[in-house]
Amino acid sequence: MIDIYPDRAAILANCPRCGAESTDAGKLFFRGTHVLAEHSCGDCGLDFYATLPVGHAALYPVVFARDGSYARYNRQEGSWMALPLIRSFLKAPDAGVEIELVQPNGGGDLILVNCLDSCFGHVFTKLWNVYLLRKQFPFKTLAVLLPARCRWLITDAEVEIWTVDLPLQEIDKGVKDLDFWVKAQFKRFGSVALSEVPVHPPLEGLDFEEILQARPFALQDFEHQPTQLTFIWRSDRFWLNSRLLGFLHKASIKFGFQAQVRGLLCYRQASLLGRLAEKLRKSLPEARLVVTGLGKEARLPSGWKDQRVAEIDERVERQWNEIFRHSQLVLGVHGSHMLIPTALSAGFIEILPRHKIPHLTEDIGRQHKGRLAHFLGRFVDEFSGPGLVAGHVEGIVKGFGGVWGKDCMEVPKKQKFLGVESGALN
Ligand SMILES: [Zn+2]
Repeated sequence: MIDIYPDRAAILANCPRCGAESTDAGKLFFRGTHVLAEHSCGDCGLDFYATLPVGHAALYPVVFARDGSYARYNRQEGSWMALPLIRSFLKAPDAGVEIELVQPNGGGDLILVNCLDSCFGHVFTKLWNVYLLRKQFPFKTLAVLLPARCRWLITDAEVEIWTVDLPLQEIDKGVKDLDFWVKAQFKRFGSVALSEVPVHPPLEGLDFEEILQARPFALQDFEHQPTQLTFIWRSDRFWLNSRLLGFLHKASIKFGFQAQVRGLLCYRQASLLGRLAEKLRKSLPEARLVVTGLGKEARLPSGWKDQRVAEIDERVERQWNEIFRHSQLVLGVHGSHMLIPTALSAGFIEILPRHKIPHLTEDIGRQHKGRLAHFLGRFVDEFSGPGLVAGHVEGIVKGFGGVWGKDCMEVPKKQKFLGVESGALN
């Protein structure tokens, strides 16, 4: 927790030009995804900003001159976060952002959880902290700053909500007037502290049913419910099973020609889905195959029910959640778009690009215990073909009864209320 009102803890940073250590003398600045401290270097006089250790900035701190001339950050792993932030200062954000106060609280000591982010998966995992903090600090007031589109993910009537009505992809550009609006709210409270908003909060203690207002797939119904497999589509990240196309995709990101190759890569992904459907038709003819996700590019092959959309809103999210929670398996390429599907389905098969190996499990919502964790949660290499993926699907769907029957370690929820922990059955 970082105290910011009425008194503020000193925030140390090193000057991006001369490296001298500086304690901030200036103000905090609420930019959007990031909260910045204004600094002026005592040695060389450079005016610069430093990120507060909140959210991803705790992992990849950034310091940069206010005119963009000098910057220090982790160029290998943190550029994705640092560059949009620095660039956002080179162009003023557009006008006309509506910031709304919902469920205002009476005052008290406030903990502010900043969940603004341009990536939905990041917003979602940041929001978990609200639920954890509610349990940890029941006597404090909580406020959450989040994109208006994600307001439905806060179900607790006691939590104060500050919504920013901007499309997610615009948030990285900075939110005009946010700083003024946020600081005006502080006056209603005795004190304000910023949550560090860990981006990988512990899953234990989280109730996805509460957060998503959708009950995850009940494992005891696995063999009784109609078999449904759902692929989560993206039009900017692909299952390609081709070194050449994989190289083309990476080059297109590096040199900025994604739009020119998107059609080809979507076509390839759709054709792999077609071959997967053919294989599954033989081994699991009764299975219902569904595709959800963002982007309507490429016509899906027969056998797949197309539930993709060009734009996401709350209605779509809730419709998809119904699909996920009735899916024995969700399939897709690694990424934050897998968080909600894996939180609600029984199991998953994730196609893992090799450069994402260090991030294994970061995008997985639901955690099973014991052998079921390995049985129902599978990662396959990015160069896996439809035959291998179909083999895993068949193995899980047909083999579930054997594992569930012998290794039934998951306790129905009502028993947890009696204090019986599932691990105690071992
Ligand atoms: Zn300096």
